[in-house]
Amino acid sequence: MALEQEAKRMAVEFDFSKDELNKGVQEFIAEMHEGLEKQGTTLRQIPTYVTAVPNGTEKGTFLAVDLGGTNFRVCSITLHGNHTFSLTQSKVAVPRTLMETEVASELFGFMAKQIENFLKEHHADHFETHMERGEVPYFDLGFTFSFPVEQVGINKGRLVRWTKGFQIQEAIGKDVCDLLEKELKALNLPVKVSALVNDTVGTLMARSYTSPGKESTLLGAIFGTGTNGAYVEKLSNVKKMAAIDEQEGGTKYDSSTGLMIVNTEWGSFDNGLKVLPDTSYDQSLDKESNNPGIQMFEKRVSGMFLGEILRRAMLALHKHSSPGVAFLRDKSSADNDMSTTTHIDPASVLFKQWGIDTSFLSIVEEDQSDHLRITKQVLEKDLMVSAAATEDAIAIKMLVHAIGKRAARLAAVAIGAVVIESKRLETDGLADIGVDGSLVEYYPGFEDYIREAFREIDGIGPEGEKKIRIGLAKDGSGLGAALIALVAHQAEKAGHV
Ligand code: BGC
Ligand code: MG
Repeated sequence: MALEQEAKRMAVEFDFSKDELNKGVQEFIAEMHEGLEKQGTTLRQIPTYVTAVPNGTEKGTFLAVDLGGTNFRVCSITLHGNHTFSLTQSKVAVPRTLMETEVASELFGFMAKQIENFLKEHHADHFETHMERGEVPYFDLGFTFSFPVEQVGINKGRLVRWTKGFQIQEAIGKDVCDLLEKELKALNLPVKVSALVNDTVGTLMARSYTSPGKESTLLGAIFGTGTNGAYVEKLSNVKKMAAIDEQEGGTKYDSSTGLMIVNTEWGSFDNGLKVLPDTSYDQSLDKESNNPGIQMFEKRVSGMFLGEILRRAMLALHKHSSPGVAFLRDKSSADNDMSTTTHIDPASVLFKQWGIDTSFLSIVEEDQSDHLRITKQVLEKDLMVSAAATEDAIAIKMLVHAIGKRAARLAAVAIGAVVIESKRLETDGLADIGVDGSLVEYYPGFEDYIREAFREIDGIGPEGEKKIRIGLAKDGSGLGAALIALVAHQAEKAGHV
């Protein structure tokens, strides 16, 4: 009993009340405005140089690559022009050693090599004729790069910082398109990097291309390893644009649409912790991360971090559980009496930073089996617990639920603020949103909790919530990057850039 009470008490620490939710939305809106006015703010509001969303009639074949937090994907995409497309893709996990290295060319060279393999495997004919003729760029490549980049053109942008466990100092401040192009050249590949795309922008474009109905999509959002969103803003609202144009020596985009897709980089919303919840688990996670003090929103919302928050909470429970109560007792535990045979191996991932994956939370949250049999099995298999106790499973499930629900309510702060600011619920009677990422795809009820929170937000409420349409744009960033490569290709022909 004592254990259950303790877990309950801890779960309450993760509550995020209606009042906090609304304060969060207000702060988010304030930071959105600030970011549109000034450069270098916390919520960065980066102009993407994409000034239109597709309508589903676009056509052509394009190459796209996507460096995310976990995988690197290469694909070629044929847009059929009727909201449909076909796609061939390959996907590899990014080797950990390339995420933290001294030499940027190791990572970018790895990517170029994957592109070469892909072309050889799927486009051998084009590839060889082209190589024989020694022709100049043949494929337009959309480069999805899922990290904060201060963009200065459709295929130009300086890396602001790494996130999600990547740390390659040498690349910071450099143009990531240049870094990739150099490696493509070294391999003599017939590929031109024609668009640089954040994955959220890709998701927005993909959703807009495929979504039903005439209303264009407002927001593309990722809730995966990391989190972020990009939305359609009125160009005239992007007050800092004039200063940026001046710095870059002219208007290097088609301004005739009156729109600008803005990459919010909301992972760094409220780094000052004015409105974000801050438990002791959040604090220690941040302190021991490789980027303390930044991506504070992301550290409470996205997949890379939820497992680690849980791990820290479990560890606290493990340390403080009273004698005789099974909480993953370890072998050396002196007070391990005969009534419990549960043991946890000291080599368990419970004792390892980043040891617990978000998929663990998804499984536990989903578990409805008798005596939480499934959770106990996972504890035994993944956490090296022998004879896991039902009490343990119950306590863990409480924590998981609390952490996941808080993440979803925080996600609602970001989405809700963008929806309110856009006024689409009033003007279009609908706000269409494309989402992608492992949390929205696999964490049970993530969207339901977001919707529950929408109903509590002033300016949305139960009526507004019904008018928010959320659709999964699975792996949309590849399609989106191809769409942007297409737009870039056309703009180049039309002489806009
Ligand atoms: C990055 C964003 C990206 C998001 C989702 C964050 O860590 O800063 O640029 O869009 O992850 O992948
Ligand atoms: Mg991704």
